[in-house]
Amino acid sequence: MKCEVCGAPSLPLEAACAFCRSALAGEPDPSGLLDYLADRLPSASVSRGLLGRSPPREVRILAAGTDYRVARSGGSLRFGPEAPAPEWVDRLLRDLSRDAAGNARLRAAITRAGWALR
Ligand SMILES: [Zn+2]
Repeated sequence: MKCEVCGAPSLPLEAACAFCRSALAGEPDPSGLLDYLADRLPSASVSRGLLGRSPPREVRILAAGTDYRVARSGGSLRFGPEAPAPEWVDRLLRDLSRDAAGNARLRAAITRAGWALR
């Protein structure tokens, strides 16, 4: 399941997409989140396998001084700071919005991704 508006993995928070705030129902499904973030955030640092061609294993983003991490762990994803996936995305977007106020490149990336600035 994906958000039909921004194409993000389906992560509803209070019945709205955690990324773009469009109406979104159903259960959170964060599969594909690593690739989605790695593709859309130029400021993210992405760890891949040894050959550098495998899917991302970890994505890290520094936002408003907080080190946001999401990593593959067995069959699931581990988030830092620890939070359920929709809340983690919501906090990340809130902090990215603060940084974007003084960073035109980041602001453009967020706009291009179709995410809602907070
Ligand atoms: Zn969305």
